[in-house]
Amino acid sequence: MADHLGRGLSADGTVRGLAAVTTDLVEEARRRHGTLPTATAALGRGLTAALLLGGLLKTGERLSLEVSGDGPLGCLLADASPDGGVRGFVSRPRTDLPPRRGKLDVGGAVGRGILCVMRVPAAPGPPYRSIVPLVSGEIGADVARYLVDSEQTPSVVGVGVWVEPDGRVGAAGGYLVQAMPGASDGAIDRLEANIAAAPTPSELVREGLDASAMLGRLMQGLAPRDLERRPVAYRCRCSRERALGACIAMGRDELERVLTSDRRAEVVCEFCGSRYEFLEDELRAILEGKSPGSGA
Ligand code: ZN
Repeated sequence: MADHLGRGLSADGTVRGLAAVTTDLVEEARRRHGTLPTATAALGRGLTAALLLGGLLKTGERLSLEVSGDGPLGCLLADASPDGGVRGFVSRPRTDLPPRRGKLDVGGAVGRGILCVMRVPAAPGPPYRSIVPLVSGEIGADVARYLVDSEQTPSVVGVGVWVEPDGRVGAAGGYLVQAMPGASDGAIDRLEANIAAAPTPSELVREGLDASAMLGRLMQGLAPRDLERRPVAYRCRCSRERALGACIAMGRDELERVLTSDRRAEVVCEFCGSRYEFLEDELRAILEGKSPGSGA
């Protein structure tokens, strides 16, 4: 089943849900970054959570999610664009911990710290940042806490990654369900019971459920209807032009030093691993094209 994100709404319009199947894009992230199982699960949960939160954005907005903990994983960054593209990385992709209660120990890898969610508006203007302390470092509960704190909307977020014994991603996905103002106690009770009874997100995906079927299960009894389904994929926004910009940002002194020692410069995109190489001629042209004194 191709990766996708779906949105649904209860018949009375007071409960909304998003669900995603992200197996292929999490596997692509694993291959690009060479992550080991615990890091794969952490990164996959972060990418899936960014896509789910991205599904709540207005047209043209972008969103980035940053988890900074004191655990061995270091920092996790994931960002999602409205076209269904997502990308991300972790500081230490080779992080792998012994399982805890039979599950990959993402909370142990992340540790204690903060979650920062940044929304970049479509129109020029400053981004909107929210920072909350991590609840568990397991990502899902942390993102739910962010939604409750920043939007005062009771939310449940589940994200999960199933890693096969050979290290590849067998299944990944997640859901986000919110009770909007006006939701009845009965609807909320029903939702809580459904979620308590539901298997983990990665089990739902392993069972072969798509986003619509996941929401059907989680919002059972609330007569959910599908609003939208869109493809999602691992997609980076880097380019040779942006990499050149990074070279220029090094400044004149650093560029001179690179030219003297290596005679070339290489910029590696930390999101996707793409390498951009600039040879001496190009770098000389940058240096000569720069206005006097800049970067010096
Ligand atoms: Zn890139």
